[in-house]
Amino acid sequence: MEQKIPVGILGATGSVGQKFMQLLQDHPWFEVVALCASDKNTGKPYGQAVNWFQNEPCPAVFMDMRLEACQPTLPCRLVFSGLDSSVAGEIESEFARAGYAVISNSRNHRMDEDVPLVVPEVNPDHLDLVLQQAGPGMIVTNPNCSTIGMVLALKPLWDAFGIDAVQVVTLQALSGAGYPGVSSLDILDNVVPFISGEEGKMESEPLKLFGKLDGGKIDMATMRISAQCNRVAVQDGHLERVSVKLARSATMEEIRYAIESFQPAIWDLDLPSSPAQCIHLFDDPLSPQPRKHHKLGNGMTVSVGHLSECPVLDVKFSVLVHNTVRGAAGGALLNAELMAAKGMLNAL
Ligand code: NAP
Repeated sequence: MEQKIPVGILGATGSVGQKFMQLLQDHPWFEVVALCASDKNTGKPYGQAVNWFQNEPCPAVFMDMRLEACQPTLPCRLVFSGLDSSVAGEIESEFARAGYAVISNSRNHRMDEDVPLVVPEVNPDHLDLVLQQAGPGMIVTNPNCSTIGMVLALKPLWDAFGIDAVQVVTLQALSGAGYPGVSSLDILDNVVPFISGEEGKMESEPLKLFGKLDGGKIDMATMRISAQCNRVAVQDGHLERVSVKLARSATMEEIRYAIESFQPAIWDLDLPSSPAQCIHLFDDPLSPQPRKHHKLGNGMTVSVGHLSECPVLDVKFSVLVHNTVRGAAGGALLNAELMAAKGMLNAL
């Protein structure tokens, strides 16, 4: 890339927004030129408005940048959105209508017929769905944070054997609820056995991700998925316990080989945020664990462990995904890198 692409961040003060800031400082292809949040913060220096709650300090370069309103008058043509879903739908559409490429984390447009829902290692070809959008800009989305981890772990099995059914129970981190998120009195010494809307997303989004792009439309995959989602007192990293019914039978050796030998097609592109290892398979049944392993591959590697036969379905395993990196900001950044590598951002 001869010149860096200027980018803006919508929702820069939030949980996902802060991760964008960390991942975009010193990015080789993108340069942050605009930060936006809600009206109450417009005009304030970022360092004064943000309640920075990451473990590392806020990058100094952003501290004095003035927050702007979320209006499509920014000095860039590419924006990353970490907007609250109560406002993301309309604001993102407005930016796309004004000619911006919007790379979104929010749920609002994920299931729109003409909007790609993409995990680069799973369905990079779905990006072509933007051709169905009215333009001049475009919206591209990444899935729900728990869905991303699950579909990455399922992808080698889907390719090798097909999948009939999936049963998943999640243990989801607090940072997945944004800030301030779940009240301390609700989560201390406790597990909350319900996350509004989460089970529906986990049950529907994989069908689009594993669907086929055909004639400008996605033919949804037909597997059955049952999800049960829980909030636990963990800072970062969603742990999921997954059981799978394969479409054709396979030995445990074949299943292990499929996961270990998985080579996503995008590796040829050498994208800056693509981890050296997409899936790390642990032999130790005590791994992965959120506190120990969520940062693997800079938060972009998904960990799988305790791979074993399932007496009810065929195979079961644990999955760990860093929810605000691979499950949100890092996943969105990888989508944008893929779009840049494919030349999709050239015409903006
Ligand atoms: P969050 O911490 O609550 O942050 C929300 C952001 O939206 C803040 O920057 C806030 O700005 C901004 N905002 C709120 N109302 C606004 C308005 N009326 N106009 C403009 N900006 C407004 O939420 P989050 O956890 O980062 O999540 C952001 C999005 O990503 C959500 O749609 C969420 O579902 C999705 N997501 C989150 C995760 C995760 O792990 N956290 C994972 C995947 C997807 P102010 O600070 O000025 O209010």
